[in-house]
Amino acid sequence: MPRPTVITTVAALREALAALRREGKRIGLVPTMGALHEGHLSLVRRSKDECDCTVVTIYVNPSQFGPNEDLDQYPRPLEADLDALGECGAEMAFIPSGEEVYGPGHATWVEVGSVTKSLEGELRPGHFRGVATIVLKLLNMAQADVAYFGQKDYQQAEVIRRMVADLNVPTEICVCPIVREPDGLAMSSRNAYLSPEARERSLVLYRSLELAGQLVDQGQRDAHEILRQMRQVIGQARDARIDYVALVDPETLEPIERVTGRTLAVLAVKIEDTRLIDNKILEG
Ligand code: AMP
Repeated sequence: MPRPTVITTVAALREALAALRREGKRIGLVPTMGALHEGHLSLVRRSKDECDCTVVTIYVNPSQFGPNEDLDQYPRPLEADLDALGECGAEMAFIPSGEEVYGPGHATWVEVGSVTKSLEGELRPGHFRGVATIVLKLLNMAQADVAYFGQKDYQQAEVIRRMVADLNVPTEICVCPIVREPDGLAMSSRNAYLSPEARERSLVLYRSLELAGQLVDQGQRDAHEILRQMRQVIGQARDARIDYVALVDPETLEPIERVTGRTLAVLAVKIEDTRLIDNKILEG
């Protein structure tokens, strides 16, 4: 399959998509930061199934990284990404420069309330402000019919849903399942940072989520007991540092005491200085 057409300016993107829109084509948008893996590509394939034209954006958005985070280190294997997108049949890759996205004098930021307050929002101040701003900008640039996101970043998807509803953005939001490695580790561009030994230890994240599912299936309803056992599993990795392990309401993202209905088990853990996140819906 040929590589996608690479577009680097908003004007060129608008022009290319306006022509398709006039023909009544359905446009799908897949926002990413590149270093593409099967998780990203599952979104591209979903868009390919449902739309006539798939635009994948590759942009490492500085405003969602904290001062001590991995912005400079973040992998940028552009040639491999374009090959992968070609294999999936994505028609367009939108790869803007920093100046194209945040022009001189940029002074507008999107602050989403409620669902940004807990979990990632609490630990990464300003993160969701950066995410909401870039996603709204990309939605406005492309004006796609549908935009695809992964459940891997569950809270991010909820923030985007909230923003799109509150600001009357006409793009439909589609959230797709987590793609995992065969042994259960959720795929992430950051997994590449892990040494082989740390990669092995990082399986405690998946194992603790699976254990939570089993406990609920066996009738355990006490959130504190489930969390205790999850922490115990995570502790089996000698260098695991827990940012949070939580059972929350999947809509409000507020902690629950008892599992009485659908519940989100969600966690962020550092292994060997790499911060990993994962989650699982428990059917209580
Ligand atoms: P990122 O490049 O990390 O910003 O991710 C771009 C999109 O891909 C986001 O909507 C992520 O939630 C999604 N994504 C990342 N990893 C996975 C995965 N393992 N499974 C499904 N979607 C994913």
